[in-house]
Amino acid sequence: MTRARQDVPLGPRFELPAAARAAWDALSDALTTSTPACDSDARFVADLPSAADVAHMRGVCASCPILAECAAFADASPRWSMSGFWAGMKRGTPARASGPRQRARGAA
Ligand code: SF4
Repeated sequence: MTRARQDVPLGPRFELPAAARAAWDALSDALTTSTPACDSDARFVADLPSAADVAHMRGVCASCPILAECAAFADASPRWSMSGFWAGMKRGTPARASGPRQRARGAA
């Protein structure tokens, strides 16, 4: 995650489980007093990070002051709601060039 995410409200179309909403509140609270180790690092929002970037990001997360809150939110959230790298792991499902939309457009 990046620090900017704390300013993005969860809209009504995103029906997160209660545990995820509570974890989001705790994460937002933690962001008011701590700066995440990934602050402004674009690698954390890449769909398909390289193996070297993943190794680097795992190290960054290991030293993050809000690792516990970040992990609690990521673990409580459904996969469809996640993207990017959170708490030492790639989350969500990356866009794939061979997915249904791309096949419908004629791409392989
Ligand atoms: S645990 Fe990792 S992804 Fe989560 S805020 Fe910290 S550095 Fe960012």
